[in-house]
Amino acid sequence: MSVPGTSATIISSSSQTQISQMSWEMDNNVELVDDEIYKYDEVQHGNILSAQPWDKDPHFFKNIKISALALLKMVMHARSGGSLEIMGLMLGKVDGNTMFVMDSFALPVEGTETRVNAHDEAYEYMSSYINAAQRVGRQEHAIGWYHSHPGYGCWLSGIDVSTQMLNQHHQEPFVAIVIDPVRTISAGKVCLGAFRTYPNGYKPANEAPSEYQTIPLDKTEDFGVHCNKYYSLDVSYFKSALDKRLLDTLWKEYWVNTLSSSSLLTNAEYTNGQIMDLAKKLENFDCTKMSKTSEDICKTSIEMINGLMEQKIKNMLFNPAISI
Ligand SMILES: [Zn+2]
Repeated sequence: MSVPGTSATIISSSSQTQISQMSWEMDNNVELVDDEIYKYDEVQHGNILSAQPWDKDPHFFKNIKISALALLKMVMHARSGGSLEIMGLMLGKVDGNTMFVMDSFALPVEGTETRVNAHDEAYEYMSSYINAAQRVGRQEHAIGWYHSHPGYGCWLSGIDVSTQMLNQHHQEPFVAIVIDPVRTISAGKVCLGAFRTYPNGYKPANEAPSEYQTIPLDKTEDFGVHCNKYYSLDVSYFKSALDKRLLDTLWKEYWVNTLSSSSLLTNAEYTNGQIMDLAKKLENFDCTKMSKTSEDICKTSIEMINGLMEQKIKNMLFNPAISI
């Protein structure tokens, strides 16, 4: 005979894990695709490499499709860095003007609050990882690098632009991904951008940045000077039946690590920083900047409301007696 309550608690806790995973997949529009996507064609890859269509059209790659598994690994890595930047590599392939990220792995690099430095050790690790992956049948090549911007949004800094230009010069096809783990709501939409740089001296037809960004005051100059040197790719996510078991296992770890924390508490420092930054922007008051600043204020308020709602839902689920 089962003990009432005990088994119910176990079932509800595992179903909550499933529900949270489903809602994360829905928020990020994770599309279920056929396992065929994992087939890798070395000949097709060789043909694309020799044709180099990106040389003729600086805007050649328009889309990027990222496996949910690679996404979850990158988000977990970015969150583990706290307020320090982290960095890693992605394996994948290209098909027409679409890039595919099939897997990702962390690089042992030292990060600071404003930049990541890859040392020889990291590059050695990178090549031995790729060799090992190829030995066990993963034939994909390194398709790009990712790093985190904890709390200051997804865009490329001047240093990032130089790094990416160098990468596109030496190891095409290559993409740069930036993740903001602080602006990623724990079980919600991931704050992620994918970018490709233009060749030196290239003038894009549309010079305005594609999406409005809330950038901290001390970084607006760096953003403004370089924002026309690269463009964003359209990002979408996929999973296949083969990914399911790994995704479920990883999710349990992700969910446990993020569930127990309230985003209002873990992000308190970020929220304070945002408010201080808004105050500084208001001090330098200027009519044209005012509409942008009010947009920032709305965004910060929405983030706080999200945090409160999340806390309320968690209380209702786990502490019905003391629900606020
Ligand atoms: Zn950066």
